[in-house]
Amino acid sequence: MTNTDSIQSFFSPSCEVKIPEPTTELHSVVSRWSDSGVDLPAAVVVPSTEDDIIAAIRLAEAKGFRVIPGCGGHGSFVPIDGKTVYLDLKKLRTVSVDKSNDSVIIAGGALAADVLKACVAEGYYTLFPNSNAVGMIGAFLGGASSAFNGIHGFGIDNVLAIRLITASGSILTLTPSSTGEEASLFNTLCGAGHGLGIITSLTLTAFPISGLRLTDNKIWIRRTIFPPTAIATAAEVYMQLQPPAGPLVPILGFARAPPNSPAKGAPMIMVSLAYFGPREEAEQAAAAALAPDVTGQAISAATLAVPFANMNDGADAFNGHGGLKEMYTCMLESLSVASITRAFERWRRLGDEVEDACPRTYTIVGSWNTQALVASAAAAAGAGGADSKFYRHRSRGIIVQTTAWYGKPETKAAADEYGREALEIFREEDAKNKVAPASFANNLRFGLDLEEVYSRDMIGELKRVRQLWDPKGIFWSPVGDDRFR
Ligand SMILES: Cc1cc2nc3c(=O)[nH]c(=O)nc-3n(C[C@H](O)[C@H](O)[C@H](O)COP(=O)(O)OP(=O)(O)OC[C@H]3O[C@@H](n4cnc5c(N)ncnc54)[C@H](O)[C@@H]3O)c2cc1C
Repeated sequence: MTNTDSIQSFFSPSCEVKIPEPTTELHSVVSRWSDSGVDLPAAVVVPSTEDDIIAAIRLAEAKGFRVIPGCGGHGSFVPIDGKTVYLDLKKLRTVSVDKSNDSVIIAGGALAADVLKACVAEGYYTLFPNSNAVGMIGAFLGGASSAFNGIHGFGIDNVLAIRLITASGSILTLTPSSTGEEASLFNTLCGAGHGLGIITSLTLTAFPISGLRLTDNKIWIRRTIFPPTAIATAAEVYMQLQPPAGPLVPILGFARAPPNSPAKGAPMIMVSLAYFGPREEAEQAAAAALAPDVTGQAISAATLAVPFANMNDGADAFNGHGGLKEMYTCMLESLSVASITRAFERWRRLGDEVEDACPRTYTIVGSWNTQALVASAAAAAGAGGADSKFYRHRSRGIIVQTTAWYGKPETKAAADEYGREALEIFREEDAKNKVAPASFANNLRFGLDLEEVYSRDMIGELKRVRQLWDPKGIFWSPVGDDRFR
């Protein structure tokens, strides 16, 4: 039997299976947000049923492979190599809203855009990530941060049920009422869930859009672009909005003007504000950004009324697959105008000095009101237990994500040096206050100390739960990968 026949024999004839040759072009079988750490897998399986997934698990068990599910492909911290069975979940994308109990059932391969569109069509929203192309389950497993953190907390705080195929091939339905080891598994999936099984459906609470009282049913968005000379003003405006009101989502960004712009390649600073409430409230909450002396320094400033279904479109430029990307992330308690200004100069220097990283390297600083996140934990404790979900940094309301995006492998050293230095600058205030470095489970990076994401107790429990449910290591998990500390 050839290798191909032997792999195919695990699957029904209706299941799509690709077995790459050494000469196969990588992108013809696997498309990922970043090509860093991605090689040809042993096989690509495109399941259309749960039985196909179980067959992939049996194949991995028999051949000593590892099953890695792929959905949006944005998980740049997940290694793919010749021992990987890549489970491409693109055929499992159904989303159905159940209005009778304000919930949404999401299939294992659905993207944020699938969930957004299906919910909005029924007059609802849920906790989908801010990027259309991100996989819903991938985001959920690390917490699911969304534009609604300040109103409802994270996705993991609003989960009703998880349908999971385990490494033994059994199918479990886990809920907040699960008991014993199934309860431990449920809690671990909520924030530290990468590599504990294959989720084929996730049920989240869905919220009526009408509850937000939007003016004309549209989202108030204010976008202001500043030139480099106005970095201090942009930083001051951003900091005046901290901590943001619950429905306000302020984002500060550094990016180069796109190739089709008259100022092609020029560094720009963007302050983007979205408000999930009435326009008058939005204008009050965002007053600092609307002052004439602020807009007077901008290249452009516009107030938009954006249909709900398009709320994530502004981030599409960051979703392109391919190329090499190093994502550096930190979560902060505090930040200063001086640090933002220095971080901007460091970002600009990378582009000025390293042509390969110039056009597309970007920085995003996002923030949210932490009250809803903290309240969710308190509610869990009030219900008779401690907060047993795996999200440690509920009181940190600022996240920095800076991505060095380049094309030549030899640029990696400069990209990494940039990332390390940028985080050090962003962390200056927290360091002064002796606040320990923190990072986000959804933005892991090889070399990261996992204690930046989880407490020591959480890591111990994650290892225990993984050993119990996946003793043979059929799935990839950061705790089984020595590229993490
Ligand atoms: C541009 C960009 C924007 C982002 N925005 C956000 C954001 O707004 N909010 C946020 O929380 N995160 C965000 N992230 C982080 C993102 O949530 C994680 O990278 C997540 O892992 C991506 O999931 P994916 O399906 O797109 O990626 P993939 O690489 O396809 O999947 C990543 C991992 O998720 C797991 N996984 C995926 N599907 C399943 C499944 N059905 N069953 C079991 N395991 C599964 C697997 O371990 C898989 O290896 C963003 C990342 C990028 C690059």
